[in-house]
Amino acid sequence: MQYLMQACDYAARRHAGQTRAGAAREPYVNHVIEVAARVARSPHADETLVIGALLHDVIEDTDGTAEDIAALFGPAVAALVLEVTDDKSLPKAERKALQERDVAGKSLQARRIKLADKAANLAALCDSPPDWDMPRRRAYLDWAERVIAGCRGIDPVLEAAFDAEAARLRARLGA
Ligand code: ZN
Repeated sequence: MQYLMQACDYAARRHAGQTRAGAAREPYVNHVIEVAARVARSPHADETLVIGALLHDVIEDTDGTAEDIAALFGPAVAALVLEVTDDKSLPKAERKALQERDVAGKSLQARRIKLADKAANLAALCDSPPDWDMPRRRAYLDWAERVIAGCRGIDPVLEAAFDAEAARLRARLGA
């Protein structure tokens, strides 16, 4: 419990001032709390997984480092966050291609974070969409489905939640 709340506090501080791209301009930390709440529903959830979800965008999107995370929350959490961190030195198209290619080789807990993260992103595209045209939204959905293809068969609860969000978005987009 102590580390869980410390991770909430740390994520909120690191993401302070960042907002989501969606119309509602929610604080970015809403996203990582949603992803943590989603993974917590898995029967395989443990403290490392939930803290990993809270911190999953810290290295990618803030000045927080794997070393900070290891010092505060231990090496297992730091390793999990690194597994779900894209290499920001690469162009965006390449990062997206790498997610698709590499996801099936990641640990089970990393793939659970992916399932919840992509489900949260599809929900956001339904409920508070950014200023994207329909083809771009559809392309994001198709890409998310391809990434999640590498996460199937490991967690029926999180997989069903992802599929529900994908179906809701597909219906919304008329796709
Ligand atoms: Zn995320």
